[in-house]
Amino acid sequence: MTADLTKQSIVIGQSTLGKPVTVEFIGNKESSMRIFIIAGQHGDEKYSRKAVDELVKYLKLKSDCSFFAAILTDVNPDGYENNTRENSKSIDLNRDHISLQSNEIAAIHSFVRGWMPKIIIDVHNYPPRRKHLLKKQMILSHDIFVDIPTNPAILQILSDNKLNEFFTTLKSDLHSKGMSCERYAIFQKSGKIRHSTIDIKDARNSLSLKFGAFCIILEGREPLKKDGIEGEKRTISSQYHALCSIINWAEKNKKEFEKKEHIPKMNELVPIRARYRESNEILKMELKNSKTKQTSEVNLKRYSPNIEIAQFIEMPEWYLVPKSLTTLLEVLKKHGFSHHSKTNIQKQVEVYHLKDSQTDRKTSKKRIKKKIKTISISDYVIFPTAQLGGRFLALLLEPNSKFGLHRFPELKLNFSENREYPVLRI
Ligand SMILES: [Zn+2]
Repeated sequence: MTADLTKQSIVIGQSTLGKPVTVEFIGNKESSMRIFIIAGQHGDEKYSRKAVDELVKYLKLKSDCSFFAAILTDVNPDGYENNTRENSKSIDLNRDHISLQSNEIAAIHSFVRGWMPKIIIDVHNYPPRRKHLLKKQMILSHDIFVDIPTNPAILQILSDNKLNEFFTTLKSDLHSKGMSCERYAIFQKSGKIRHSTIDIKDARNSLSLKFGAFCIILEGREPLKKDGIEGEKRTISSQYHALCSIINWAEKNKKEFEKKEHIPKMNELVPIRARYRESNEILKMELKNSKTKQTSEVNLKRYSPNIEIAQFIEMPEWYLVPKSLTTLLEVLKKHGFSHHSKTNIQKQVEVYHLKDSQTDRKTSKKRIKKKIKTISISDYVIFPTAQLGGRFLALLLEPNSKFGLHRFPELKLNFSENREYPVLRI
């Protein structure tokens, strides 16, 4: 969808119950720094939407914007109305960025493809109390949790120094307002600690990988009931200040986001499997003690800050999807991938064969071998990899990808009886 920039707002899609999903535009439309802000993927996270409403009010009064913002305050209007996390089809929208089963997320992908923001901010709320943490008397206490794209197939837009600067600036801006901010940390039941998932089914990784945007997730701590109205105000205000801080930082660092090449090259190596690697590093983090109510710095071991790539594939020129796999083709077309077909042409293709029926139980990796054969490709739809989102395409279609569409049984993309993977490579 190409947005009509003369308008102040556009309806980009409709919820299942027919409510409009509306994007509002604010700022300097000539600016190369385009920022897309989305809130309310989870319908029950009302504070995130209120914080973005505050931001809209502020930006409308600000006369000197050097950026152009598109703001979608309510991604999930049905969930908002029913106060549910999911939409009215029980789809968790922030897990739907691969299969695009919901109208709402399909509309977002189509909008991003047309508008091509440099930065996307995905605004949420997080519950500070988790059962397994309470057993250890721990409550998460940061006003803001923030994270950046983490899937290793995403080309890093910013240097490590710039990324550090991003976190440091946000933390110190919030600190000056008496609020706290930390990089999102997930405390697993096993005791391991890591940052946000490397899976590509959420907005952060999917939109970054597909469109080369720098997609940030911003989570405001949900107030507890006993915090009352003051707690609610604090949550909204901390998310509002975090949004302002990120926008200021983006304005100052515009140059960092220019001149990026997002189209992959043939034979380029693309990581399709990765794992978290525990380090000797200790994560120092402020946590609240549920008994004493005191907040203090805790030394956390079993921290996995690093992501280790476990397998690469070499990028083919084309992926060939059988015309008979209509459900899969529908998903790929919804993603907006360009494609074509050829009639009566014989080509040498690469076919994946399952070597034996065993799947490594620990890694779920299949033992496969590539074979070459010559076939007529008229029964296939051709998806060139030299296009925007080419790496995303590889992660979706490679049989050994940890992030692939073969994880969705309804797409019937598993190994067939004769152990041949249906999608081919050239
Ligand atoms: Zn959420």
